[in-house]
Amino acid sequence: MLEVKELHKNFGEVEVLKGIDFSLKKGEIVSIVGPSGSGKSTFLRCLNYLEEPTKGSITIDGLMQEAGNHKNRDIVAFRQKTSMVFQNYNLFKNKTALENITEALIIVKKIDKKSAEKKGREIIKKIGLEGKENFYPKELSGGQQQRIGIGRAMALENKLILLDEPTSALDPELVGEVLDLIRLLVSEHISMIIVTHEMKFAREVSDRVIFMEDGIIVDQGTPDEILVSPKNKRIEMFLGKI
Ligand code: ATP
Ligand code: MG
Repeated sequence: MLEVKELHKNFGEVEVLKGIDFSLKKGEIVSIVGPSGSGKSTFLRCLNYLEEPTKGSITIDGLMQEAGNHKNRDIVAFRQKTSMVFQNYNLFKNKTALENITEALIIVKKIDKKSAEKKGREIIKKIGLEGKENFYPKELSGGQQQRIGIGRAMALENKLILLDEPTSALDPELVGEVLDLIRLLVSEHISMIIVTHEMKFAREVSDRVIFMEDGIIVDQGTPDEILVSPKNKRIEMFLGKI
């Protein structure tokens, strides 16, 4: 359902992604791990076209975007193939929990307000925030805010959910509730790419783990191959096993 070919991304003179080839099957859950600055966020942002790649192509669910090719371009349709969950939640501060979930349904998916609200309330229930519909982000804990971030992605029912370090801004005691919600998505076989530093969690939920460093995919394999007994010295070092 996702095919990435020879993806490059430069920021000015600096080449941050140096040729990524990657594919993902429907329902597959892939975790990306690797040192800070290796290009993990940039990669996810390119998949959602929050950043325009410098070179290469991305095909999601039959819709292809080629870097630099402005013919037949449909970034809006392409963006609707994926939903992003950000480290810092990116909620609308002046909108309630419910509105944060319904906003994109109304504006982007053009769903009428009443149906969007119905859907929004179902999602609020699913993410365990019943009763908090009318709370503003600042009235919610970090874990609750991130659950809304994930709820918003769920509501859109896009083909692929991209999560960029969804728990790294949270106090340790709030990490569990967000991981539990991601586990729920895993159990529903929703295709996901998760950038994470939670190695135990990555091992538990991933079908495949990718190790990225310096703009390339250095190695990939089953969680055990990469996170438990890596053959690659760099991964061993990264995991603090040397
Ligand atoms: P972390 O684990 O710290 O989140 P990361 O693997 O997600 O790191 P990226 O955020 O993708 O890394 O950044 C990769 C490199 O690209 C970094 O050197 C960063 O400074 C650079 N970079 C990212 N975004 C931009 C930008 N908008 N302009 C210029 N350079 C950027
Ligand atoms: Mg990052």
